[in-house]
Amino acid sequence: MQPTSRRRIRGPRRTAVLASLAVLTLAVTTSASTGGLMADSPTAAGAMGRGRNAALSPCMINGVIGVQMSEGMPTATGYARSTGTVRALNLMVDFPDVPGEGSAADRLAEFFPQTRDWFRTSSYGRLDYRPEAPIRHWLRMPKRFTDYGIQRGAPFDPGYRRLVDDIVAVADPDVDFRAYDLVNVLITPNAGPSALDTVLSVTFAGNHDAPVADGVPIANASFVYSRQDDGSGTYDETGYRVLPHENGHVFGLPDLYTQEGGGAVGHWDIMSEDWGANNDLLGWHKWKLGWLDNTQISCASTRGTSEHLLTPLSRAGGPKLLFIPLTKTTGYAVEVRTQAGNDEAVCKPGVLVYRVDADIDTGHGPITVVDSTPRSGGCTRRPNVHAELSDATYGADSTFTDAKSGVRITVAGAERGGDYRVRVTRS
Ligand SMILES: [Zn+2]
Repeated sequence: MQPTSRRRIRGPRRTAVLASLAVLTLAVTTSASTGGLMADSPTAAGAMGRGRNAALSPCMINGVIGVQMSEGMPTATGYARSTGTVRALNLMVDFPDVPGEGSAADRLAEFFPQTRDWFRTSSYGRLDYRPEAPIRHWLRMPKRFTDYGIQRGAPFDPGYRRLVDDIVAVADPDVDFRAYDLVNVLITPNAGPSALDTVLSVTFAGNHDAPVADGVPIANASFVYSRQDDGSGTYDETGYRVLPHENGHVFGLPDLYTQEGGGAVGHWDIMSEDWGANNDLLGWHKWKLGWLDNTQISCASTRGTSEHLLTPLSRAGGPKLLFIPLTKTTGYAVEVRTQAGNDEAVCKPGVLVYRVDADIDTGHGPITVVDSTPRSGGCTRRPNVHAELSDATYGADSTFTDAKSGVRITVAGAERGGDYRVRVTRS
């Protein structure tokens, strides 16, 4: 059947509210900076070990104070940890004016086990994501859906605060909130507009001004609305993907799509496009999340020529990411992408080059993929996969040059098993 809709995602449809918003009242989630935002976050605990690696320190770019949600290394504190066992509390919620559609267990089954599997694959088994649903029925809210004033871009206060307060009040007798690292609120899909028109799904991450339950703040919570069903018949396989995207914020990752849509990163990261065919995260994000070791990163920070072997990002083990710092806040990342693992839609395997800017905030284009074939139209015709950047990768004997920065990246050779040798020259 022909898809009835191929709507691409447009605009800043979700906002991720960040960390330690000491004065969160009336916070406008789309505003760029908040004074004192990073006050408790100069060096995340988990990254201290990384900081000891002197060879990599020039590549651990970081942003200035005031960036709400940064690509910088290390990730600020306050987010859920992204390695080891992570327990996710799932609560299925409905309203007196919008009774649950289908069973709560069916709503849960739209996202699991796929979300858990997605994280296991993407993290090479380093994130053991344990979804739990101690309450198996719909949690009925005391107020009507419309009373909460939930709409696209809605800030945490006052609507979400009321909603979280009510969720805690209703769930608390059956839930020990201390047992969980993050919360997924799966709203009955008939509440609010269709996701084809307006995507309401949102995450409030690192929000220590959140309501407290059992003595712990509900600081990292993702809310999922409607269904990301593009009518192409793939909902059963792809509809869950909104949840790993939202949980990406819980782990500190910013949005990579911009007001113009997915044109900055295309389908190369789930924080850019979470509709349609499955995709993975960029290597930069995997390093940020602790899913790549320092030994898997090469840092080309000095003048001259160096050569680096890179193995496909989808395969566990081996060198994965080459980074070329330009300033203390920017640099180029280089990795190998193939059609394997979570990367379902890769139509031109090869070497992906992208620029990371830790000073650019979530939703404003902190990462930009370099297109090896501008204006080619791309190599995919899949719905909801950004076409132009689908063939952005570089193949053997091709070169990217940034004359202004004096950086030249040459794919020196393709090896067995999809590995590539990459040569970097810095003048
Ligand atoms: Zn997002």
